[in-house]
This record gives sequence, structure tokens and C-alpha cells, in this order.
Amino acid sequence: MEAYLEQLNEAQLAPTLQMEGPMIVIAGAGSGKTRVLTYRIAYMMSKGIDPFNILSLTFTNKAAREMKERIAHIVGASEAKNLWMGTFHSVFAKILRIEADRLGYPSNFTIYDTQDSDRLIASIIKEMNLDKDVYKYKQVRSRISSYKNSLITVKAYFNNPELIEADAMARRPRMGDVYKEYVDRCFKAGAMDFDDLLLKTNELLTRFPEVLAKYQNRFKYILVDEYQDTNHSQYLIVRALSDKFQNICVVGDDAQSIYAFRGANINNILNFQKDYDDVKVFRLEQNYRSTKNIVNAANSIIDKNQTKLDKVVWTANDEGAKIKVNRSLTDGDEGRYVASTIFENKMNHQLKNSDFAVLYRTNAQSRAIEDALRKRDIKYRIYGGLSFYQRKEIKDVLSYLRLIINPADEEALKRIINFPPRGIGQTTVDKLIVAANGYNKTIFEVMKSIDKVEVRINSGTRTKLQDFVTLIESYQVMNQSADVFELAEHVTRTSGLIKEFNKDGTPEGVTRMENIEELLNGMKDFVEGQRELADTTGSLAEFLEDVALATDLDADKGDADHVALMTIHLAKGLEFPYVYIVGLEEDLFPSAMSMNTRSELEEERRLFYVALTRAEKQAYLTYALSRYRWGKLIDSEPSRFIEEIDDKYLDIVTTIEERRFNPMLSADIFGDVEPNKIRFKPAKQPTLKKKGSVKKETAKFQVSTPKNLKPVAKSNGNTNLFDSKLAVGNIVKHIRFGTGEVMQIEGAGADLKAEINFQHGGVKKLLLRFAKLEVI
Ligand code: ATP
Ligand code: MG
Repeated sequence: MEAYLEQLNEAQLAPTLQMEGPMIVIAGAGSGKTRVLTYRIAYMMSKGIDPFNILSLTFTNKAAREMKERIAHIVGASEAKNLWMGTFHSVFAKILRIEADRLGYPSNFTIYDTQDSDRLIASIIKEMNLDKDVYKYKQVRSRISSYKNSLITVKAYFNNPELIEADAMARRPRMGDVYKEYVDRCFKAGAMDFDDLLLKTNELLTRFPEVLAKYQNRFKYILVDEYQDTNHSQYLIVRALSDKFQNICVVGDDAQSIYAFRGANINNILNFQKDYDDVKVFRLEQNYRSTKNIVNAANSIIDKNQTKLDKVVWTANDEGAKIKVNRSLTDGDEGRYVASTIFENKMNHQLKNSDFAVLYRTNAQSRAIEDALRKRDIKYRIYGGLSFYQRKEIKDVLSYLRLIINPADEEALKRIINFPPRGIGQTTVDKLIVAANGYNKTIFEVMKSIDKVEVRINSGTRTKLQDFVTLIESYQVMNQSADVFELAEHVTRTSGLIKEFNKDGTPEGVTRMENIEELLNGMKDFVEGQRELADTTGSLAEFLEDVALATDLDADKGDADHVALMTIHLAKGLEFPYVYIVGLEEDLFPSAMSMNTRSELEEERRLFYVALTRAEKQAYLTYALSRYRWGKLIDSEPSRFIEEIDDKYLDIVTTIEERRFNPMLSADIFGDVEPNKIRFKPAKQPTLKKKGSVKKETAKFQVSTPKNLKPVAKSNGNTNLFDSKLAVGNIVKHIRFGTGEVMQIEGAGADLKAEINFQHGGVKKLLLRFAKLEVI
């Protein structure tokens, strides 16, 4: 047997060696599904299957790249290079370029990213004089996206009274018209949005049997990772392409299906066995990623879901540390806890920043974490925010390049026609749009023949428009001979972009210049074929396609050592030794918007399962008792998901840092108290003292502390109970923190302080002189 196959266990070996026929590997997190796909491809190639005949679809381009590298390691780079591997979007964008003319598109069509789509939709809403508060462009975009992913074309929309009715009910009766205009404008601009890449592929495969046959014969072997998160459009593509040879291998985990909100259909994986004849089903049970504690805790969570396939996941790995649960007062404190424990862990165990990931439910949560990491000088990187290629200055440069290869590209043109400023105002642009619509031409065409069209633009402006056309045309000529790097370098210099960004001299301006430099470096890499496994020719069109489909993860060269910050959705398939899951609070995680139905709640639970199973050695779950959301301080309760984990896997730590400078609390909290750290020993679940005072599902964490659990924080010995009506063990009520139990009393006279464990504030040291307490 080939040596590399020895790196698989028996259960993994079976699907790896099964080359023919439809098959599914269904298994829990960390059990080696992705590894099986990788080794299976290597094995197929070693058995003489032509890499040109293998199509492998992954969830991110980064995953594809890593798989390819691994395969190259086994079978050699020159062979691996010929594999078709990537996301649905990137693979089918390539095919669409080859077949574009059949659909009436130029082969150098532009790919509109979400920002471009948003801008176009906003502009259409304005042109149609619709109320932008009712027709919110983001909502309109997501509606259009869901039509497209369900293969509802404009025509199908207008033939469907239910859809029309639904939009009318949502007070958007012109939705169909907006959809139509959007589709027409994209078509005219020679642009496809992300959803088009799938929709048009489906159109191509259904309308042209000869094209379908061509790709069926080409892709004799198809493999799909993360199959549980395919949407309807992707499902149909896979079905069509695999129909002839039926050599289709999908791997996935129904418990990790987390993209329903974007149209993913969990039924694709649940029904796979019905879609093909004689499906071979493989199961993997051994997890290699995580400790016993993590695996068992994760199992105990997913057990709570009703809709699931029964699976066993176990591990031979060490027991490992218990999962640490931390309660903080505020989101700021939570950030400080994360930063300080990362710091400690790094020191104690000689770890790198890249050993840590902080995962959150929503992007907005990153800010507090970032602040704290910065204060500790810990390098971090946020994934999935604005990607590098969506930054303003980068999009400006790219828009020039897009316009060079596709002058019909309306969004690119609108972006740079007056940037850097060249005296072409918005009114002129609006007139050009109207004229272009009237003549059924592109804006660029109208500008080219500006003297022949009827439009009220004065001669001075006309000259400026012609100069712009000449500028772009000169770039087009250069593009015939220069490479991407040379062209971009020339464009940034001669268009005035560099001058424009250089001119303000602000730190932002400097950062912009650095980013442009980084972009140019990336182009140099691209041209020089640094990515040796890439199957590209180095053309500008290819570069732009790469860029349009690049996710933030792809830009990661893996060289810098930073803590990874990202949403859980983005973390799918990844693994890190130390994982923090922050913001585990009701209404945040599970999200308030996903608690209306059981199935929504189950999806949130799967999300939690995905998060926890990213951890190899140690997981931290954190929550704050209050947090700024939408500019307001909101009280929060611990997430039900913490409650759902069996106590035996948890280590509950309470670290409450008293904040000195918070004006809201300064009246209550003794200003001189150093941030104190109170750790309960033993690390065991405190019991509920006052029954009925808190809701059942959160009771575990909002409790007073039993007498036998002494805080580690020491009393200074000056306790003088005669100065106060208070005694240790009293239950008191505080105006802001609610009820709590007096744990310690110290100091005397004006200095008398009490340490109180509050239901809603954790342990606090209050100066009795100020604190308005009532003994109950
Ligand atoms: P997920 O569901 O999160 O996508 P997965 O099932 O795809 O997980 P992999 O990422 O393939 O799991 O594997 C998890 C980890 O276990 C990886 O680090 C992988 O290298 C390792 N691993 C898998 N199988 C083995 C094995 N037989 N021997 C040693 N390590 C293994
Ligand atoms: Mg995987």
C-alpha cells in the first residue's frame, strides 16, 4: 500500500479507495472528511485517473489551495496543477468565461461584488423614485439573491402570483420591476453578480445539451466538501454534471449546516441517498482534532437538536482541560479577559498568536476584542470584514482596470469617471445614464459619441468626457502588450490616483498608499507566477476574476503571526489550538432574530457546535452581563447554550474587573479598588441560594455563592461589623445590580466596604458610604 495511505484509519481508508459510483461520507466535526477527500484525489491520480477529469468543489478557495498543496506533495506539483479545484463560484466563473457568448455575455464579463450590486440597486431605486426607506437596498439585494438561488428568473417571478403578492404585502409592489431593471443593467454592463455565476451556469447546462455533455465528459469524477451547505442552485449543477458517470463523492456533516439564511438547503445532504442509485454511505467516528472534553461537550450540545442524523463521535486524544466559562461585567471586560488570558497562555506555554482564534456571532463584536488586544500589543487579524479588495483605494484602482477590459462596466465607470476629480459632476453622470438608457447603449458608448447624441451637456464638459475616453483607450492599447503589474503601475501614476492619495498627508492617506503598494506587489506575484499551483495564464481578466472572488481568508498568506478574529460562519472547516467563543448571551447567540422557530434555533445550535469543534486543546466560552448594542447599554443573560453543556465538562471562572472610570458606576464602586480577580474554589457550580428569584434556564449563572465557597480575595482583617447593619450572608438589594449576597466586609468607618455577589453584576466591592443597599 502507498505510504501516504497509512496516514488514514480504516474507516477513512474505505471511502478513499472507493473510486467509482455515488457515495457520501457523513461524519462529525474533525473526523477527517476533508482529509479523505484530499487523499482520495491523490489516490485516484496515482491509479492513473487524469487530473483533468477530476472536479473538486470546496467551501473556500483557501481550502482548495491547501488541498492542492497536500496533493502536490503526494503526487507532484506538475500533475496537481491540472486539477479543477475551488469554490463553486470560482470554478463556474471559469467555465462561464469559456461559454459566455452562448449567453450573450462577453468572455471578459465583470463580476460585480456585493458592493457593486448594492450601489447599482441603490441607484435604480433612486432612478425609479422609490422610497429608499421601504426599498432598503440591502433587503432588496438579498431578496433578489434568494430568487436567483432558487432559479426564479425575472420571467418566472412575473408568472408567480404568490411572489408578487408577498412583495406587495411587504410594501414593495415594484420589487419585480426593480429586479428586472437590475438584471437588465447587469446584462448591459457585461456583469454577473455572485448569484449569477450559479444561475447562469444552470442556464448554460439546461439550455445547451452539448455544453452539458462536454462538461459531463470532462468531469468524470466530482467531489464536494461541506455538502451540507450547498444551495438549490449548486445542488442542481452537481446533479446535472454527475448525471452521466455518477462518480460523485460528497462529504459533509448535517450538524454543521449553518447557511440556511443564505439559501443552503440541509435536505441536499439528507436526501442524497434518494438522488442516486446504489449510494455507498461511509461514516467516520474518530475525531483527531480535539480533546475528549471538547468532543464530549460538543456531542452533548448537538444532542439537543431534534432534526439530525445519528452519529457517533469519539476521540482517542487526551482528556484535556475543561472548557473555561467566563462571566464579565461588560463587553469591554470580556475583551480584556480574552486578551489577558491569551497573553498568559502565550507566556506559560510558549505559544504563537496564530494558535488562537476568537469567534463571534456578529462582526460588530470584534471591536471590544480588538481594543483589548491592541492594549496588550497582541497582533490580530480580522477576517471577513471589508476584504482588502473592497477598500476604497483598492476598488478605485481596480475600477480603472475593470473598465479597461470591459468598458461597459457601469459600476466601475461611475466610480472613477470623476475620481480623481476631473470636473465631471453628478448631474452630468445622471444625464449620461438617462441617455444611455434611452439609446440602449452603455454609458461609455454614449461618451464616445457624445457629439452625436442628444444630451444637454455643455461643450467644456464634453471635452472632459472625451479626454476621459481617450485616457481609458490609451490604457486599453497598453494592455495589449504590458502585463498586469506594468499596466496597474502606469494607471495609478498617470490617472492621478497616486497624487490624489498622496496629497492629504494624513495617516489615512499613508495607509491608502501602502495598500496600493500592497496591491501592486500582489500583481507582481501574480505575474511572476509565484503561486506555482495556480492554473492561470497571468492575464488581467484572470487577475480581476481572482480578486472578485477572493474572500478575506484567501488573502491570508499564512506568514504573519496573528490571533484570528472572525465570525463562526467563516470558521467552518478550520481548526485552532485555542478557541474563544465570545458573546454567549441570549439574543446575541442564539441571535434574537433566530429564535422564532425550532428550526432557526436548531441552526443556531449547530453554529455553536461548529464553533466549539474548531478547538483542538482548549475552548473558552465568555459572556458579559451588559453590552453596548446599537449604541445602548443592554443587560444580557448567559446563553442557553452554556446551560446545555453538561457541567462536568466546564470550569466556571468569574473574573470581574471593577472599572474605575465608568461614570455610571463610580458612585457605587470604591474608586481605589484595584481591578480584583475573584476566583471561586473549587471550580464547581455554585448552587442557587434564593429559589425562584431567577429564571430557570439561566439560574446556573445568576446565583449567590454558598458559604463553603470562599473567595480567594483576602479580607484585610479590619472587619468591624458594628459599623454596619450588614453581616456576611445577608441578602441585599442594589438599585442597579439587583439582589446579591454579602460575602465579605472590610474596612471601617467611611472606608467600610462590602464584597457582594450580585445576580446581575457578579462580585463587587462597594463602599457602603455610597452604595444604596437594602437588606432583604
Ligand atoms: P470539519 O467537519 O471540521 O470540516 P473534517 O471532518 O473535515 O472536519 P479534517 O479537517 O479532515 O476533519 O481533520 C481534522 C484534523 O484531524 C486535521 O488536523 C487532520 O489532519 C487530522 N486527522 C484526520 N485524520 C487523521 C488521521 N487518520 N491521523 C492523524 N490525523 C488525522
Ligand atoms: Mg472539513
